[in-house]
Amino acid sequence: MKETIGFPRALLFYYYYPAWRVFFESLGRTCKVSGKTTKAVIDSGIKVTVDEACLPVKAFHGHVQSLSGACDRVFVPRLVSVEKKAYICPKLMGLPDMVRHNCTGIRQILDPCIDMSRNRKAFKREVYATGRLFTQNSLRISTARRKAQHTYEAFIRLLEAGLTPIDAMIKLNIYDGQDFENSAIPHNALTWRKGAETRPLVIGLLGHPYIIYDSFLGMNVLDRLKSMGANVVTMDMLSPAIIEREAAKSPKRVFWTMGRRLLGAGYYFLTPGVVDGCLQMSAFACGPDSFIGELLQQESIRSQRKVPFMTIIVDEHTGEAGIQTRLEAFVDIAERSMLR
Ligand code: SF4
Repeated sequence: MKETIGFPRALLFYYYYPAWRVFFESLGRTCKVSGKTTKAVIDSGIKVTVDEACLPVKAFHGHVQSLSGACDRVFVPRLVSVEKKAYICPKLMGLPDMVRHNCTGIRQILDPCIDMSRNRKAFKREVYATGRLFTQNSLRISTARRKAQHTYEAFIRLLEAGLTPIDAMIKLNIYDGQDFENSAIPHNALTWRKGAETRPLVIGLLGHPYIIYDSFLGMNVLDRLKSMGANVVTMDMLSPAIIEREAAKSPKRVFWTMGRRLLGAGYYFLTPGVVDGCLQMSAFACGPDSFIGELLQQESIRSQRKVPFMTIIVDEHTGEAGIQTRLEAFVDIAERSMLR
């Protein structure tokens, strides 16, 4: 029987699963993704993590536990950096250590160290080292790496076109779960707006992919906004050029990759005329989000609140009713500002 590699459906799974899946399958392995996030998954993560951990890290642990006994190795990369001179949140750097310490019953952890902060050579070496765990044939590894790279590029193009990560995976035939998230975004609302005769309400949604695309952690925010008649555009639909241009307006370069992307997208959404409201969804106990939210709040005040801005912080106790009321009020305000 083929060896199975388990992927917890949490954290940066939403960006990197397609590439790693193609890589491992090209090396003759099978990949298995954990199920959707549920209360049971969160509770199981909470039991084994420290109180200070953010909700997405707790959820990750729950997903790892749910894969126990269902695969031969669990994929828990040590994500240090995915670009030059910028870093990923420290919690993701220490993730394999946390999982080893906290989770029991996991046969083996596959934890390549992804660090592109200086150059891509170290990353390439790590990919080959990971490949050599399964084959000594360098040509096979090289082919697998190339296929993974192409898949990643195609995936990013689909995100920019407006698909959610799970929809993009389905489109690329690299997701076979029965329980995919609902498709809430038909296409990039900004592109749609340009050609529309009547002006649709567009909300810019900011948040880590593992919050806004996870219907449980993100309290179904995409579907809720859609049911209120709003079209949603996320930072993944913006070109890197827009994000970098906007993020450069910050007097000091933000050296957290995700933080910088959120800030760039936030500055863009707060530019009058781009969207009708900017909504940030953040996780309780997230350090990077707290200062990005503050910077965006200041920008919103500086621009005389021409674009409504609101932050919603989710944690394991967040209730559905509270979210629904706040979203309805926010959409209401966005609609009024659209008519001004
Ligand atoms: S960026 Fe925030 S939400 Fe994401 S892992 Fe780090 S602390 Fe948690």
